[in-house]
Amino acid sequence: MRAVIIGTGPAGISAAETLRRLDPACEVTSLSAEPYPPYSPPAMADHFLTGREETLYWKGVDIAEQLRIDERREAVVSGIDCDNREVVLQDGGRVGYEALIIASGSRLYAPIKGADKPGVLDFKSLKTANELVGKVRRGEASKALIVGAGLIGVELSLLLVELGLKVTVIERESWVMPRILDQETASVVETALMERGVDLRLGVSVDEFFGEPEVTSVRLHSGAVEHADLFVAATGVRPHVEFLAGTPVAVGWGVQVDEYMGTPIKDVYAAGDVAEAADLLSGERYVHAIFPNAVAQGRVAAANALGSKVRYEGAESMNSLKHLGVPVVAIGTIQGADEVVKGGTKGSVRSLYLKDNRIIGVQLALDTSAAGLYRSLMLRRVNVRRYIREIQSPDFSPADSIFTWPSLPHTPLATRATS
Ligand SMILES: Cc1cc2nc3c(=O)[nH]c(=O)nc-3n(C[C@H](O)[C@H](O)[C@H](O)COP(=O)(O)OP(=O)(O)OC[C@H]3O[C@@H](n4cnc5c(N)ncnc54)[C@H](O)[C@@H]3O)c2cc1C
Repeated sequence: MRAVIIGTGPAGISAAETLRRLDPACEVTSLSAEPYPPYSPPAMADHFLTGREETLYWKGVDIAEQLRIDERREAVVSGIDCDNREVVLQDGGRVGYEALIIASGSRLYAPIKGADKPGVLDFKSLKTANELVGKVRRGEASKALIVGAGLIGVELSLLLVELGLKVTVIERESWVMPRILDQETASVVETALMERGVDLRLGVSVDEFFGEPEVTSVRLHSGAVEHADLFVAATGVRPHVEFLAGTPVAVGWGVQVDEYMGTPIKDVYAAGDVAEAADLLSGERYVHAIFPNAVAQGRVAAANALGSKVRYEGAESMNSLKHLGVPVVAIGTIQGADEVVKGGTKGSVRSLYLKDNRIIGVQLALDTSAAGLYRSLMLRRVNVRRYIREIQSPDFSPADSIFTWPSLPHTPLATRATS
């Protein structure tokens, strides 16, 4: 078997590990647009703060040797020739495959005028993050302006404050991380950011990055102009799918896959931030751009590429904030709830979002000790109506009978072989 993997992010590298584990003789080639060994994007901020490499290069810098794979760096894929079963590279080269795993992840999505101009940086890949932090380290920046207060914008603002910059974050919505957090949980994050010196502007829209040849300011929707010497777009991500244009691989927002992470094209699979996988709870198909999903999907895609029939159970939504100084965890969704149950001790946030008496979302701040229990109840789809008082209690703990009750239906989290 000759397998080719596009991308060596968490999805690509877990696919490579699985291929090697299941088939010691499989020939594996990985193609990465970047010049680095496989790395973990969530570990970038810590790496720039501490210099630590073990968590950044989470599999070891020699993972390709360990796995005996042909790892090609700065090998940018520009197309796929499905008829001839070849991946086409930007430099004109071609790499033949018997099975193909598309794990090209996601890139910055910044639908703002001027966002493509020189001087607008991002913190999405190690390459762009190195450029950004390099500018700070060389003393070329003292005032940063970050557009977007999602998870990446928030994390980056904390890093840049730590690196000694004055930081302004501009967010169009009225609270931070609006797609992940409810307003009450977000307020905990906002307080922590402001205590760290971040100048947070909420409910403010940026219409344009401008300046020639490099961006020197942004124009707000109000007409006001804000100057800085470091501009970052952190307005969202979108799947890396451009190279699939003109191929028969079906692409919506991301690559459309079935429950086996397969595409309608024989022997072509997709995994990670590039794939529109089904949600574990709702079954809805969309891109769930988080690390654990990428790893699990990479494993499933690889097993199936080798001829297994492993079903992906579905993606989870789960986020926590690192480096904030206060723990914040969001699990599931707050959309579509018909009831919100509040609990928690004074000062902390504990909001459980229910639909038809089942937990569909959990928001915790300051005290996140019960996160695992709520997640378990959510994934098991337990009817919690009778236990509302218990689950609201600040003392709700693993010893609670509701958690250990033996007859609870269990839905395995990872994957299940169907044959
Ligand atoms: C700053 C930051 C913090 C994060 N924090 C968290 C967190 O706390 N928890 C969490 O769960 N998730 C977090 N994430 C999200 C998580 O990193 C992603 O969900 C995960 O990396 C997705 O893995 P992936 O392999 O699908 O894609 P990626 O990690 O995006 O890797 C895809 C790789 O494919 C390469 N590629 C793309 N196109 C091509 C091409 N045409 N040719 C060749 N190679 C190509 C890319 O260069 C990239 O190296 C964070 C992300 C960032 C950026």
